[in-house]
Amino acid sequence: MEKNADGSKINMTGNEKTDKSGIRFNYPGNLEERERLSRLLETLGTLYPGVSVALRYETPFQLLVATILSAQCTDKRVNMVTERLFKKYKRPEDFAGADIKELQEDIKECGLFRNKSKSIIDASREIVEKHGGRVPADFEQLLKLPGVGRKTANVILANAFGIPAFAVDTHVFRLARRLGFSDKNDVLGVEKDLMEKVPQEMWIKAHHWLIYHGRRVCRAKKPACEECPLNDLCPKKFLEKIRRPGGKPQTQ
Ligand code: SF4
Repeated sequence: MEKNADGSKINMTGNEKTDKSGIRFNYPGNLEERERLSRLLETLGTLYPGVSVALRYETPFQLLVATILSAQCTDKRVNMVTERLFKKYKRPEDFAGADIKELQEDIKECGLFRNKSKSIIDASREIVEKHGGRVPADFEQLLKLPGVGRKTANVILANAFGIPAFAVDTHVFRLARRLGFSDKNDVLGVEKDLMEKVPQEMWIKAHHWLIYHGRRVCRAKKPACEECPLNDLCPKKFLEKIRRPGGKPQTQ
């Protein structure tokens, strides 16, 4: 039995379809809706071919550190900080033995530096003590590391190990709802809907497509619907408050 990254069973109901290219499409809705989502994904793939994670890293461990640093910080700033950081601290052992005050100074530009430095040191210690200095390629084990939530665990699985996973950050959450992949109000609900409606083979790429489209076109407060290549296919859900003059902008 195939399983999702979180260990849950993939929905293998009678609604499962396989398209011409052999990709399984498991949307439980009607044919038009399946076709619409399929065309959305196809268009996104054409718009953003070859996209990948913007954080710079050479090892799964470096991606873990960079992802922890990226909370409420731009990828560009994280890359500037890690360029210096990974020259100073080369292995998990170096971070595990770091002086916390010194590490705070080293990562200060990324913000939330007290929490982040503690998470990095604690996670590094656990990786050294329990995993022989290697980041575990397992969702449950990753979740147990300090400072690692679902999003970070999925980012590591997908990008460092190539294991199908759907990381839901603020852009993915917003776009999944606007584009009609999910009506859920919580990250886990959106993640599950995406895993059910997007073919597993596309999870890693679709995560990046949604992030790129969210940054460039479907921005939180000012989505550029008129010039959006997905305009005809998009139901534009959860945009009502943005459109209403004088209404408080809805950012998700
Ligand atoms: S049409 Fe508007 S709401 Fe839909 S994806 Fe494009 S910018 Fe976002």
